[in-house]
Amino acid sequence: MKISEIFFSLQGEGIEIGLPTVFVRLFACDLRCSWCDTMYAVEGRDFKDMTVGAVAEEIASYGCRRVCITGGEPLIQAKEAAALAAMLTAEGYSIVLETSGH
Ligand code: SF4
Repeated sequence: MKISEIFFSLQGEGIEIGLPTVFVRLFACDLRCSWCDTMYAVEGRDFKDMTVGAVAEEIASYGCRRVCITGGEPLIQAKEAAALAAMLTAEGYSIVLETSGH
């Protein structure tokens, strides 16, 4: 799967605001919103190709059981995102998926 970045921080949005979270930013989006603050994850070539297992391993390295799958638009890689979500939930992680919904 194409990964823009994986990092640990505090959730800044939504009902989990303030909670420690591992963010998995999937690369690519088919929209070009004028307010977008993550264009580096929308276009260009700044991404890593990683297996779902490798992404799960990097998430585990942070020791945090809460994960936010974001983008870009993560559902462009729906098959891979679903596989990652299935793997993580089977291991007891709590997951949030951020999508534009289109
Ligand atoms: S949908 Fe999100 S990631 Fe895509 S261009 Fe709009 S703000 Fe950026």
